[in-house]
Amino acid sequence: MAFLKRIEAHGFKSFADDLKIEFNTNIVGIVGPNGSGKSNINDAIRWVLGEQSVKSLRGEKVDDIIFNGAQGKAPLNMAQVTLVFDNSTKIFNSPFNEIQITRKVYRNSSENEYYINKSRVRLKDVQNLVMDTGLSKGSLAIISQGNVSKFADSKPEERRQLFEEAAGVAKYKKRKEESLRKLERTNENLTRVSDIVSEISRKIEPLAKQAEKAKNYIQIRDTLKKYEITLLVKDGAIAQEELAILSNNITKNDEIKTSLKLKISNHEQKLKFLKNKSYDLDKNINSLEMNLSNVNTLLNILDQQKKALELKAKETNTKDQSLSEIAKLEQDIQELLNEISHKKTIQTQETDTLKQLDSKLEELNLQKSDLILSQNNLHHTLGKKKASLDFFALNQEKQMQKNLGVQTVLNNRQSLYGVVDVIANLIEVPELYHQSISVVLGRNLNNIVTKTDKDAAKAVKFLKENRAGIATFLPLNTIQVRRASQEDAIVVNSQTGFIAFANNLVKVKDANNQTAVDFLLGRTIVCENLANAQVISKLIAAKYQCITLDGQLIKAGGAIVGGFQNQNNNSNLLKKDYNLEEINAEIKLLDEELINLNVQIDGFQNEINSIQSQIAKAELTANKLNYEIVDLENESQLLSTQYQNLTGKKIILENNEELNDIFAQYKANKHHQETFNLQLQQLRKEKHESLNEMQTLENEVYVFHQEDYTVTNTLNNDRLQQVQLENKVEQIFKRLVETYHLTFDRAKELYSKPLENEEEARSLVLKLRNDLEDLGFVNINAIEEFENENERYLRLKNKHDELAAALKELLQGIDEMDKIMVEQFDETIKQINQVLPETFRILFGGGNCQLRYNQPDNILETGIEVLANPPGKKISNLNLLSGGEKSLVALAVLFAILKVKPLPLTILDEVEAPLDPANLERFARYVRTFSQTTQFIIVTHRPGTMENCDVLYGTTMENQGVTKMVTIKLSDAKNKFVADNSTQSLTASLN
Ligand code: ATP
Repeated sequence: MAFLKRIEAHGFKSFADDLKIEFNTNIVGIVGPNGSGKSNINDAIRWVLGEQSVKSLRGEKVDDIIFNGAQGKAPLNMAQVTLVFDNSTKIFNSPFNEIQITRKVYRNSSENEYYINKSRVRLKDVQNLVMDTGLSKGSLAIISQGNVSKFADSKPEERRQLFEEAAGVAKYKKRKEESLRKLERTNENLTRVSDIVSEISRKIEPLAKQAEKAKNYIQIRDTLKKYEITLLVKDGAIAQEELAILSNNITKNDEIKTSLKLKISNHEQKLKFLKNKSYDLDKNINSLEMNLSNVNTLLNILDQQKKALELKAKETNTKDQSLSEIAKLEQDIQELLNEISHKKTIQTQETDTLKQLDSKLEELNLQKSDLILSQNNLHHTLGKKKASLDFFALNQEKQMQKNLGVQTVLNNRQSLYGVVDVIANLIEVPELYHQSISVVLGRNLNNIVTKTDKDAAKAVKFLKENRAGIATFLPLNTIQVRRASQEDAIVVNSQTGFIAFANNLVKVKDANNQTAVDFLLGRTIVCENLANAQVISKLIAAKYQCITLDGQLIKAGGAIVGGFQNQNNNSNLLKKDYNLEEINAEIKLLDEELINLNVQIDGFQNEINSIQSQIAKAELTANKLNYEIVDLENESQLLSTQYQNLTGKKIILENNEELNDIFAQYKANKHHQETFNLQLQQLRKEKHESLNEMQTLENEVYVFHQEDYTVTNTLNNDRLQQVQLENKVEQIFKRLVETYHLTFDRAKELYSKPLENEEEARSLVLKLRNDLEDLGFVNINAIEEFENENERYLRLKNKHDELAAALKELLQGIDEMDKIMVEQFDETIKQINQVLPETFRILFGGGNCQLRYNQPDNILETGIEVLANPPGKKISNLNLLSGGEKSLVALAVLFAILKVKPLPLTILDEVEAPLDPANLERFARYVRTFSQTTQFIIVTHRPGTMENCDVLYGTTMENQGVTKMVTIKLSDAKNKFVADNSTQSLTASLN
């Protein structure tokens, strides 16, 4: 069974029509005239087996292998060739008994299609399938006339290829090449990966530190968050509760204050009424006392008149009465009159005393009223002062609130080390300069002085992180103070209206802060008025700014800012300390004054109390005397009646009219006296009651004022506390929203778990805040970056290790392949060398031939030299051989190879053309010795060869340009296609 069973071609070169050549025998001859397409068969077979070089297929470009058209035949667009092989002996490494290999190409397309058993495959698959058979392009299996001499002409290294095919190392070589390519790629990859790995590992180290820091930061931040929010929630809730209580208290105290005011006003009205009443009573008492005094005087006169008349009567009537009886009566009456007179004297004294006491009491009450008035005024003033104190305190608070940044920094002074205070709080400015300094300083009043620039930077960072506004800082260690030059100072000093450089007008509470004040005010001149300022500014070429006492400003450079301005906020800011201190001092003085007054009032009250008890005592005595006098006068009246009875007739007779008149007057006046006394008593009682009532009312008013004072104090304190608490709550809300994006209610829901140790938690929060600050810049992304980089690092490191292992494996594989190749190659060359002399001798009819390594130490790459000595010749160089000899050498080597490693198919394309008939015959015969194992397709013109073929195919071109093939008889072939009979006959004749 023939190995190559069939060739089918269509459109390949001159095979325009479908061509199908069946091969049934092992030695096939192809004969035909020149250019009829014989060699195209060779080309077609090599093309199918994977030939890629268009040149070696005798074309210029790919399309050259597609039928180009001929006379009367249009070009084709596609070339296709199929080789059908018998594989029953498993020459191909395939389970199929028949192998069909097809190659197809289209015009204008560089893409070739390959099929094995009609399945589309890659070129590589075809090459792999063919490689094991020894039919690949580099082997000696397909030799054309053109390249037969090439074997001899080739360099030893090029020649080596032929033997590699024979040695079966081509596949290893190919594999090695692949391995080497792989090795190169792997090496490149390894280098690339190594570079990346070392770059990542360089990068990963600081990233790991950053990630560690970020993790630490997150841990601190989360802990801080937990504790801080819990504390904020707690503080906020307490503050809210306190606020509720406070607001309740404020409402209650407001109500109390209103009711106190009402009570005070009612009492004051009543007091006014009582005072008027008291004045009226005084008036009535005075007039009554006057009347009483008149009556008393009249009574005395009447008494004396009566006495004189009685004496006269006594003298005339003694004879009718016993003298002794009358004398006795007279004595009794006289005693009674004496006693009455004595008692009256005492009564008059008592009345005087009472009068004195009354007027003293009045005086004391007046003085006390004055004191109470002063006390009330004092209370009023104190209330006003305290209210203004609260106003200023609130105002200060508001001013601070206006600048959130400044306020935040000041509120957190404890945790922000090095923050001193705002400028406004560090200086004292005499009131005269308030306007000017406040204009010059303007917003700078709120500048915050810090000890160092680092402290300022910390505060700035704090504000930024808390999103709590902005503030300007004056670090004492870095601010550059630029004072006026000494010359300028001397020049301006003597100018009219020059007051001073502004920094010298401001008193710095702490000398350490002088730098900040010099910085802000060291280049400002304070002048009396604008006219002076303009002169001074011109004089110094407007180098420094000038400010007038009323705040008109000539800026450095000459611009004038001026006009009228209400007391602005800045001025308030400047004033606030001054006012607060002043008011505080005034309140202190007023409080002292109030205490003094209270002491005085108490003194007066004691005195009033003692006088009131004296009055009560005197009134008691006067009343008692009154009753006694009335009793004595009644008794005297009785005795007078007895006396009249004894002496009366005469008296009555002699003095009747006159005495009666006196008695009548006396009686009437006595009656007046009693009435007056009773009225006076009543009025005094009323006055006394009125005074007592006034006293009670005044006492109550005093108590009300005291209560009002206390309530006002409490209210002021509560209101202040309310503002502070509201502020605190606002700060808490703000911190929660800005830092933790939580509303207070939400925070309460989430963080209401009570803390085990609150104090510890508070100090922990402070510590954690400091810790966060100490951490400085933290790259949160570092965690993810590190994880990504580390993951990449590990992945690439793994890849690196895999590549390194692969590299090692490849190297090992290559080593092994090298070893196998060396062994197999050497073995094959040795085997060929064993048979080559014989095949050479057979083809040449003698001589010798040997293969030799040109690099025996490097069998892997050594080239193969051929030492050929045709019979009788000593040849050092193959090039010296004739063309025929070169062909014979090549054929000898081919046959030697066929002996060592039989090839299933060999195509010989006019290789024997140059041989002389004797050599040709030896060749032809020798071919047959291999026909059992190798199929030969021989393109020939030589009859000797034709004769040795089992079958002959003739190629013709019946249609000009299109190859046709038919089997042909030997005799016909010889007649028709023996190419160069003349040459043949010439060669034959030479032999
Ligand atoms: P010789 O005996 O002289 O060696 P040959 O029989 O081997 O000749 P080939 O070399 O096989 O002839 O064929 C050459 C012929 O093939 C030429 O006539 C050439 O025109 C034709 N041919 C080659 N390529 C194409 C093509 N693409 N289209 C048409 N014809 C082509």
